[in-house]
Amino acid sequence: MRKYEDTYQHKGLRKKLAGLLREKGITDENVLDAINTIPRHYFLDSAFDKIAYEDRAFEIAAGQTISQPYTVAYQTQLLQVKRSDKILEIGTGSVYQATILAEMGAWVYTIERQKKLYDLQKEYYFRNKYPNIKFFFGDGFEGLQTYAPFDKIIITAAAPFIPPKLVQQLKVGGMMVIPVDEGETQRMLRLTKLEDGTVKEEAFEQFSFVPMLTGRNR
Ligand code: SAH
Repeated sequence: MRKYEDTYQHKGLRKKLAGLLREKGITDENVLDAINTIPRHYFLDSAFDKIAYEDRAFEIAAGQTISQPYTVAYQTQLLQVKRSDKILEIGTGSVYQATILAEMGAWVYTIERQKKLYDLQKEYYFRNKYPNIKFFFGDGFEGLQTYAPFDKIIITAAAPFIPPKLVQQLKVGGMMVIPVDEGETQRMLRLTKLEDGTVKEEAFEQFSFVPMLTGRNR
């Protein structure tokens, strides 16, 4: 069994990381607090223990990645998370992003298409601390009709287009943060759903994500 330890050294590196994200332009104090609270090294193989608080993405299982802390903070900030928000996440991956949202008091519904990664949630370290995360094995293009509508939706993989079903599953006034494919990099978009069912679109920085793929991979 893996031994999880959050030492003073980890805490110090984490505080530095939160400071760096602040310098890079993250201003939402709730986001910075969550980054400062969640031990990112618990979401990575123990071999990454010393570098877990560098502002970079790392490989996890099934050829996927844990997003860079700046990306996690940036997407979370754009989402304007409020306590008790009902949030759909596409791409559970390491569960780090979902944990940040849960720490901020949201109800998180997270979908993963890689069975190997989905199965890892059975060993999720914070299961008791964050019962407000629900895990699903499925295709994010389909969303979660049963639990719709959502206040917010966050896509953590490069979407080739805006999935229509996800727009449908968003509340009026709700927001979706989604990196949309433009080749090598993706433009971060924030969509706000309007009364007539259409969306208002705002465009932000370029990022680089692993692709959002259709179907499930058993
Ligand atoms: N939020 C994750 C980032 C993981 S990388 C974290 O904090 O670690 C993106 C993830 O999206 C990968 O695990 C990938 O398998 C998953 N993914 C890609 N396309 C998907 C889809 N259509 N539905 C659900 N998950 C998908």
